[in-house]
Amino acid sequence: AKPLIAIVGRPNVGKSTLFNKLVGQRISIVEDTPGVTRDRIYFECEWRNKKVMLVDTGGIEPHSDDAILSQMRRQAQLAIEAADVIVLVVDIQSGVTANDQDVAAMLLKSGKPVVLCVNKSDRLGAPSPEFYEFYNLGLGDPIAVSSTHGHGTGDLLDACFEYI
Ligand code: GDP
Ligand code: MG
Repeated sequence: AKPLIAIVGRPNVGKSTLFNKLVGQRISIVEDTPGVTRDRIYFECEWRNKKVMLVDTGGIEPHSDDAILSQMRRQAQLAIEAADVIVLVVDIQSGVTANDQDVAAMLLKSGKPVVLCVNKSDRLGAPSPEFYEFYNLGLGDPIAVSSTHGHGTGDLLDACFEYI
């Protein structure tokens, strides 16, 4: 089987936008409304002549009792269990949230390699002070990415392929 890279994070951080950018097609639905991707969506991606499967997930709200959100969380957990590398997507515009911290702790416990994607980093140039806050998640060097513009997606894939 091809190595599997799972894209996780809370709703609305841009997971589906990133997924579509990486596969080079509009496969997953991007929405301003959180919670559109309820199942897992798979697609193949090739980088430096190596093929992997990417999986987009609906998002994780660790403390919600809502039926749809807990279904999304279950799907994300299944993706995490199956993954060889996990991309945790966070949003520089909202900074580090309690949800990001909980998901980061959960991923650390999983023991799987995690690459931290600081999405919505639309401006090029020196990282902003908010960027450095993401070091506090304890997941190593964050990678600044703009999924809408495509900046940083190559660095992100390079970081993933270090574990593949
Ligand atoms: P998901 O719920 O994590 O899958 O998030 P979506 O991919 O559906 O995106 C949620 C919203 O964030 C949409 O309005 C996207 O257009 C927007 N978005 C995603 N990536 C970026 C980015 O890199 N920069 C900016 N400015 N907006 C983004
Ligand atoms: Mg989505």
